[in-house]
Amino acid sequence: MLGDGSIDSIEVTNIGGETADIIQTAIDKLIPRIMESQSIAVDSIAGATASSSGIKTAVATAIDGAGGDSSQWYTSVAKKADIVVLNDYDVVVVGLGGAGMPAFCSAAETGAAVIGIEAAGKIGGTSTNVGGPMTVNPKNAEVQPAVSTAGYPVDTAALKSQWLSDTKGEAKENCIDLMLEDSGSTLDWLIDSYGFTFGPLQNFMGNNFIVYSSYRPAAGQTVTDMYVHAIEKACEYNEKNKYVLELKAIHILTDGSGEVCGVSAEYYDGTIYEIYAPSVILCTGGFGGSSEMTEQYIGSAMSLYGMYQNDGTMLEAAINKCGAATYNIATPGISHAARTTTDLRSSDIIPSHQKTLDAIVVSTNVLHVDEDGNRFCQGDTTTDITENAYKAGNCYYSIVTQDYMDKVKASGLDQVYMMINGQDESLPLSALMGGNVELDPETTKYALMTGDPITDLDEIIALGEQLGIVYKADSLEELAKLIGADNLASTVTAYNGYCASGTDPEFNKNAENMAPLDAASTTFYAIKGTSYCYSTCGGLDVNEKIEVLDTNGNVIKGLYACGTDSMGVLLNVEEGYIDYGGVAHGWCFTSGKLAGQNAAAYALSKKD
Ligand SMILES: Cc1cc2nc3c(=O)[nH]c(=O)nc-3n(C[C@H](O)[C@H](O)[C@H](O)COP(=O)(O)OP(=O)(O)OC[C@H]3O[C@@H](n4cnc5c(N)ncnc54)[C@H](O)[C@@H]3O)c2cc1C
Repeated sequence: MLGDGSIDSIEVTNIGGETADIIQTAIDKLIPRIMESQSIAVDSIAGATASSSGIKTAVATAIDGAGGDSSQWYTSVAKKADIVVLNDYDVVVVGLGGAGMPAFCSAAETGAAVIGIEAAGKIGGTSTNVGGPMTVNPKNAEVQPAVSTAGYPVDTAALKSQWLSDTKGEAKENCIDLMLEDSGSTLDWLIDSYGFTFGPLQNFMGNNFIVYSSYRPAAGQTVTDMYVHAIEKACEYNEKNKYVLELKAIHILTDGSGEVCGVSAEYYDGTIYEIYAPSVILCTGGFGGSSEMTEQYIGSAMSLYGMYQNDGTMLEAAINKCGAATYNIATPGISHAARTTTDLRSSDIIPSHQKTLDAIVVSTNVLHVDEDGNRFCQGDTTTDITENAYKAGNCYYSIVTQDYMDKVKASGLDQVYMMINGQDESLPLSALMGGNVELDPETTKYALMTGDPITDLDEIIALGEQLGIVYKADSLEELAKLIGADNLASTVTAYNGYCASGTDPEFNKNAENMAPLDAASTTFYAIKGTSYCYSTCGGLDVNEKIEVLDTNGNVIKGLYACGTDSMGVLLNVEEGYIDYGGVAHGWCFTSGKLAGQNAAAYALSKKD
């Protein structure tokens, strides 16, 4: 409501496709700040930047609609220059996501004074949107009824030998041991001590290990609620314990002898906090949010499906200030999703059909090539395409002809669903990204289904061209020029030959999935897809106590790194992330709990 020269109230009436607890964070924090400063130029809420932008745009539109001029409401909001010093803590936990939550709780259980600082406006980080963790032989969980129990309980010796073999000896054996020996009891601890609820154990993506369990909050509860409950319970163990949101750590503090003694951090309003404590636990979710760091360490920027505030600030601080060593930091990000590079939203297009191009770029019966026009994956399954999409570099192209488009328009897509445990139950994650597809109220299935004619395909293609995700040309040569893919023609010639012979000597693709591209087609299309990463994989080097090591292999006393910040110890740069099911999240819980215990013990021992 625009009153007499002031914004009197702001009410959000429609949240669209936004995630409920993220938009709620923006509503709770941003609206009071706009009201207080009477400016739309307030900082967005970290962790809810898209929701914040949506609210700011809506406020500007409402001002204009009420006869005001929104451009007058962007007065800059001054930052504070205060410094707050906190001296009374034993442990600082930096980042309160999947690794920070257990680190905070286990450190607090020792009676140590623990402070958690979190850059975002809410607890949980990426982790409150994940499926679930790897957990080896927990006592609490049952095996999902549909899954054969032949491989359960898990033979830890067999899993270890597979792990060492899959990572070609590069993963650290002592850290694999932690996952095998402690991940089960860590899940039990979260269930027994903090009331977490998980679904039954299952295998993941068809592999043999029954180690994956997904969050299953009680009715009316969210995963974020479980995290908040756990941290607030842990705050009760010591009256000094607390956590502060929207406080971003920027430096590691060291004392006169160079030992770690705390962190400095900046609050959203500009206030600087100096927090002194003998133990600092980094749980900041890796560096996927920093294009400089991903370019430096992995070789390219990444499109991120995780959180951009996970920008590696504290990893850089550990490397530069404390001489921390990295471990497998060049490992490519976790790549489980691929889709077009831009969302296609328009009221001229049926909502579910807005996902058509996303479905094509992960279809198995389509030829996918990298920016040079070379194939980069076998492509027999959606999973194979999404997991290998990062190998194509910044983007890839799915090449189809006019015949293919005509068929999609008249009789729909051949593939839309991804099989999960043999059940045809959900859209590929890739297609769900960027807002959910509408449910068909009659079938209660997602409305974009195989065989559903895409009647508005012409509008989709036209908008795709405008957005730079569809390229269209009269010949293959023209298309190759348009997308700058020098090898496209030779790749198509070879591919068509493999289709004719029914054997693919390059990638061994199943003949059933290979359809030749008609060289005489009147029109060729390239649809631009890209890999969306959950997070980076590599980070700092740690030992079995989750202590950070320096480049000489010595312990940096008082510095710990868990979750994504140290996951490289379980991996191999060439092989990338390993899909036993929930390895990343399992490492968060396991390394987080251990880091909390060890960090608290170290800090308390310094008092003796
Ligand atoms: C959609 C999605 C699904 C996934 N599903 C799975 C799955 O099913 N299983 C699995 O194993 N993995 C999954 N992952 C991978 C997932 O990223 C990890 O499993 C794990 O949850 C990461 O936890 P984390 O604690 O390292 O990072 P986060 O949970 O992201 O926590 C990091 C926290 O640190 C905060 N932070 C960052 N920098 C600072 C700073 N300088 N100061 C203060 N705070 C800071 C951030 O705001 C954030 O809250 C998924 C990822 C995504 C995006």
